Amino acid sequence: MPLKAAIVPVTPFQQNCTLIWDEASKVGAVVDPGGDIDRIEAGIAKAEMSVAKILLTHGHIDHAGGAAELKAKLGGVPIEGPHEADRFLLDGLSEQGAAFGVTGVRNVTPDRWLEEGGTVSVAGATFSVLHCPGHSPGSVVLVNAPQHFALVGDVLFRGSIGRTDFPYGDHDALISAIKTKLLPLGDDYVFICGHGPMSTFGEERRSNPFLA
Ligand SMILES: [Zn+2]
Ligand SMILES: [Zn+2]
Repeated sequence: MPLKAAIVPVTPFQQNCTLIWDEASKVGAVVDPGGDIDRIEAGIAKAEMSVAKILLTHGHIDHAGGAAELKAKLGGVPIEGPHEADRFLLDGLSEQGAAFGVTGVRNVTPDRWLEEGGTVSVAGATFSVLHCPGHSPGSVVLVNAPQHFALVGDVLFRGSIGRTDFPYGDHDALISAIKTKLLPLGDDYVFICGHGPMSTFGEERRSNPFLA
């Protein structure tokens, strides 16, 4: 039962809202619905999937800004993640929206916070939760071991890493999380990140200048 994935770029930040679903059952999840709900709904329709839950990697507006609206439109499906350390960001989404000139953004409280060592299930597939603070205190990475696949949010990008120039940012913690939790999973792990193209942990281990 392989999982399929499709990326829907949303918000002025070109965030990779990601749809993941089981090919056989067509059941799946929406990861990081930052906004542009109409585009996400079009992606859901194109994939012919049934959304069972919404997953959030962290509390920034480009990832979580549309979560409350999408949840309501999907009949109240549960929102899982991020780690509770990002609660202050989710409580301040409407303020973040105002700061960026985006109107109508709603604060959101997940139905379930995620913790290091926990798991998330999507259509029978299991993702393990890695708490990877630094870009935000509550950033999580979701890892599906059978398919060597990870959803990393803004922790790691192709050729870059998440920015840490926020008052709550922690560069050393971010580098440590990448080096001790992500790279050891294996070079062949493919990841989808919050912005830009996909990559593999091996490619980043070899060529990412921030990990040298
Ligand atoms: Zn972010
Ligand atoms: Zn982002």
